[in-house]
Amino acid sequence: MVDLAAIVAEIAEEMRAETRRGTVASYIPPLACVAVDKFGLAVVMADGAIHAAGDAEEAFSIQSISKVFALTLALGAVGDQLWARVGREPSGSAFNSIVQLETEHGIPRNPFINAGAIVVCDVLLGRLQPREAIGQMLRFVRELAGDEHITIDETVAQAEQDTGFRNNALANYMRAFGNLNGDVDLVLGTYFHFCALAMSCRQLALAGRFLMDGGRVDGHRIISDKRARRINALMMSCGHYDNSGDFAYRIGLPGKSGVGGGILAVAPGIASIAVWSPGLNAEGNSELGQRALERLVQYTGWSVFEPRVG
Ligand code: GLN
Repeated sequence: MVDLAAIVAEIAEEMRAETRRGTVASYIPPLACVAVDKFGLAVVMADGAIHAAGDAEEAFSIQSISKVFALTLALGAVGDQLWARVGREPSGSAFNSIVQLETEHGIPRNPFINAGAIVVCDVLLGRLQPREAIGQMLRFVRELAGDEHITIDETVAQAEQDTGFRNNALANYMRAFGNLNGDVDLVLGTYFHFCALAMSCRQLALAGRFLMDGGRVDGHRIISDKRARRINALMMSCGHYDNSGDFAYRIGLPGKSGVGGGILAVAPGIASIAVWSPGLNAEGNSELGQRALERLVQYTGWSVFEPRVG
């Protein structure tokens, strides 16, 4: 029997001593001013036990981790029709890259790069007004986490809007190919509000339970088990941009990162894990967050490639 409480505390201690912490995202002031020495870890077990350490209760900007929740909502709205507009292949490119869109006729490689998530937002706006889509997202993560206190940081959303030139380029480019139906400003406004969700490691790990437990939360079905498996597969293959292969190799669990320094990782049937450390590696993924997850799977043996897990 592994002593999870001791392992989580030990990892937080180990990470405190680390000096190679990566670089905090600097493209918007609200992210640039976050202290690089922050570190939080929360592990929610299948039986409901929660182990948390460090700054696990402090809300941070979940950024691209919101792409998991947006994808889940879009699949709920239009099902497999979504895949006519966005692919399911790793991009091997940066999260905000535009290069593949030209040769691939405006169809983004996957829903976890910016272009893909912008299409996902457009799909949601096919049925809802931006205000409704943002409200739906907020209700969804609150329901998943069982926590009414989750909010969207309007300062972050506004700063994203003010500096979103690349995202504007991606959206306009896809519109030129006919793969964006809505008004670019409204689609991006929705996308930026999703990125601006503020959650703590505890809230994020709780919100990830449906992916750990075959689409259920506390026995209540959110999505089918098949869909949960497939979202996990996409997280494994595409969740860390051009760093996804290395993440799968080192950690062996589905995961999704954000430039706020958070990572949501899922050990199916075992645990939902959230880690936060704002310093990023060259590919825009949390440097220490990945290291902490690597230590966690070394201690526990958790891996989707492990013949016997537990
Ligand atoms: N808000 C960021 C952007 O759109 C999200 C990217 C990320 O977290 N990787 O550029």
